[in-house]
Amino acid sequence: MKINFNVPPYVDTAIGYIEECVKAQKICGDGAYTKKCNEWFEKKTGTAKCLLATSCTHATELAAILCDIQPGDEVILPSYTFVSTANAFVLRGATPVFVDIRPDTMNIDEQKIEDAITPKTKAIVPVHYAGVGCEMDTIMDIAKRHNLYVVEDAAQGVMATYKGKALGSIGDFGAYSFHETKNYSMGEGGALLIKDPKAAERAEIIREKGTDRAKYFRGQVDKYTWVDLGSSYLPSDMNAAYLYSQLEVADRINDDRRASWDHYFGRLTPLKDAGRVELPYVPQECIHNAHMFYIKCKDIEERSKLIDHLKANDILSVFHYIPLHTAPEGKKIGRFHGTDEYTTKESERLLRLPMFYGLKSDEVDLICDKVTEFYAE
Ligand SMILES: *Cc1c(COP(=O)(O)O)cnc(C)c1O
Repeated sequence: MKINFNVPPYVDTAIGYIEECVKAQKICGDGAYTKKCNEWFEKKTGTAKCLLATSCTHATELAAILCDIQPGDEVILPSYTFVSTANAFVLRGATPVFVDIRPDTMNIDEQKIEDAITPKTKAIVPVHYAGVGCEMDTIMDIAKRHNLYVVEDAAQGVMATYKGKALGSIGDFGAYSFHETKNYSMGEGGALLIKDPKAAERAEIIREKGTDRAKYFRGQVDKYTWVDLGSSYLPSDMNAAYLYSQLEVADRINDDRRASWDHYFGRLTPLKDAGRVELPYVPQECIHNAHMFYIKCKDIEERSKLIDHLKANDILSVFHYIPLHTAPEGKKIGRFHGTDEYTTKESERLLRLPMFYGLKSDEVDLICDKVTEFYAE
């Protein structure tokens, strides 16, 4: 029995919905399924506007344009994240300023943000790692006092909350990912959540190549034209149909992942109590979505050996994110504010175990047996 690290989510209504799009010859962007997805997220998150996009990367680029990021501006973000969190702002000429993470959640350390602010700072970009919310009250308070935008990278945060609020709906903008490795997928795709209806109007234009085409389709203008910066951020309605099939059973998918997560946590607690591994921490004010299950080994050598041990038993485990400030492009254009106390050290210890919709209970048992066996040796 081989256990993959990830299996993309699939719900069997998807094929019928896609067929419907194809037969109706409605496969371009902003069709019926795109609208259904947008409305589903607006209702679920209580956000003024949701716009489906071609990726979380693109949704974040859209947010960077909406923040009016200019060359020379600075944005504050963790170094322990995916490249897109930085790239979206770098494309507009901004300098990424990296701040250390908290070792308990792997999220940006909210206590270290304020010291990194300069007159050039335009935005704070918290990343909700593993679907566990950042300390958003503190971050929103800092942003308010310094007049900064908050763009949440909520790529991993769909269906998770902080103090009852949906991740992605707390800042000015929030970006979701529907990549095949995420909890809900459309192959490639994402969405932007927008708090301010005025910004939503502009977002619609930027997403439609800088034209007021959306207004034209609604009959609000009698011809459409070039009115702003823009690009092409609309996904095909076929992809939206694939996603919508999962949104209809979003709780079922979430419950299934949470059950696997709880099972892992219970089975590995003895190793934690014995001081052999560390397990994820979820602050009381956060409800997570079981986006990933990770453990922390003693160090990078132990992690490499554990990966090999699991692989020898046909179990695929992975680590990720070489801290951006240590990567070639990050070194060239970014800077780390303060000291890297935890970013590098913690990232080298973290190992992600298989986690996907449909992972079986006996598979989790087997994985935990093999991890336990490794530490018994
Ligand atoms: C997956 C991910 C992204 C990128 O998502 P895409 O939809 O592939 O562009 C960005 N940030 C984080 C934290 C992610 O996990």
